[in-house]
Amino acid sequence: MKPIGILGGTFDPIHFGHLRLAQELVTGLGLGEVRFIPSGRPPHRAEPDVPAAHRLEMVRLGVFGNPLFTLDSREIAKPSPSYTVETLAELRHELGLEQPLCLLMGTDAFLGLATWHRWQELFDLAHIAVAQRPGVSSLTRAAATMPVELRDELNRRLTHEPEALHSAPAGSIVVQAITALDISATRIREQVRSGESPRYLLPGAVLDYIETHRLYENPDPARVQGE
Ligand code: ATP
Repeated sequence: MKPIGILGGTFDPIHFGHLRLAQELVTGLGLGEVRFIPSGRPPHRAEPDVPAAHRLEMVRLGVFGNPLFTLDSREIAKPSPSYTVETLAELRHELGLEQPLCLLMGTDAFLGLATWHRWQELFDLAHIAVAQRPGVSSLTRAAATMPVELRDELNRRLTHEPEALHSAPAGSIVVQAITALDISATRIREQVRSGESPRYLLPGAVLDYIETHRLYENPDPARVQGE
């Protein structure tokens, strides 16, 4: 059974860093599909810059045309904060105990994993595939500075065999190098705000959507006040 990849994020906006990560992990790990799950109210970070409906629409445009990519809007539909562990539990319930699930994330996200709600339960529900993100030190190098519980999980679960993701429904960690694309949504928002074009850092249809709806042009007054 091919593992199903799950890529969560604020996608504020979706860009080629996200899409390329998903594409290379599909190829490298033999995933059957990738579900993009935009977070509703992320528990870990400031409220995203634009309303959820816009982020959802941008992900829809970003994944359009790739038969292996799908959009899952469940977290956005929830009024409460979206915890990955709960989303994975729902998916596990829907897809059955045998289906391998694989949570995809960049190294920056993995390094913060020990702060996630009920993070150790994630391994009962899914594998984790970590894609090396430019500008973030590699996991082996960062291991020394990781919280000890996270380092223990990494040491215990790390495998170099993508096959391990196919032969069990959950529980392994795999690290894969991907093409370095030093693109971040933060930088794209800054570019739009300053009138600089982010063209070619994200799909053209997503940029057109940003321009049509005049997203990111004005800083959120609450944020400016808090800075
Ligand atoms: P922001 O700049 O607003 O923090 P972001 O560009 O980091 O946003 P997120 O939606 O927070 O995007 O990221 C979702 C996931 O995609 C995370 O696991 C993150 O590590 C990964 N990711 C984002 N950009 C890249 C990139 N350029 N290369 C590899 N992974 C990436």
